[in-house]
Amino acid sequence: MKDIGITQCVVNGTSENDWTLVADLSTRHPDFIIPSFGLHPWKVAYASSDWLAILEKFLISFPHSTLGECGLDLWIKEPHFPRQLDAFSMQIDLAHHLNRPVTIHALKAWQPLIQLLQSKKQNLPKLLFHSFNGSIEIAQQLLKLPTDVYFSFSGHFLHNRKEKVRKTFAQLPQDRILAETDAPDMLPPSPQFTFKEQNHPANLAQTIAYLKTTLNLEPKVFTQNTLSFLEESSK
Ligand SMILES: [Zn+2]
Repeated sequence: MKDIGITQCVVNGTSENDWTLVADLSTRHPDFIIPSFGLHPWKVAYASSDWLAILEKFLISFPHSTLGECGLDLWIKEPHFPRQLDAFSMQIDLAHHLNRPVTIHALKAWQPLIQLLQSKKQNLPKLLFHSFNGSIEIAQQLLKLPTDVYFSFSGHFLHNRKEKVRKTFAQLPQDRILAETDAPDMLPPSPQFTFKEQNHPANLAQTIAYLKTTLNLEPKVFTQNTLSFLEESSK
């Protein structure tokens, strides 16, 4: 990643098992890795009974960390949806309490997600919808929430079949677009870098190049967007 000019990145944890790994990576590369800790909707059913207290400890030990991934997913076979809703709601409250931005994973669950976020009224942290694949109508509803809302574009969306997603991104406000790889998942169509045929974070360069040529989004704009997402809210 450093070889291709990336100077800093956010690495998301998804369960108690990998929060320690993310913390360790960030401790070894403090200027390069911004850690993020969250309980992913796929992992909710396997979390220990005190996951929330453990999560809070990680967030407090790393004052520049963000919260994520967390969210809602009705695409998976056994979603345990009531537990997903509880875990997501508690993580939104925790992030607001600690004033941390949140990375959200959302699939096939937009209406319950919007309802839950609206129910928090003004008590919302900054929100980033990662690999956002909702419609422009959903994006417009999210942008109406009383907080700053961002969307990240994944290199996976460069596949031909993802044209609809690319069209949605072209209609989003430019100051709300971020770039991501979702590595090791979501391999882009012709990856420059792979790790055992899995997606590599250095493929971020392709995503950024696409945002420049197609959406006219200069790398410095997207860097500014990323910094705005990460900086503390002024409240
Ligand atoms: Zn995700």
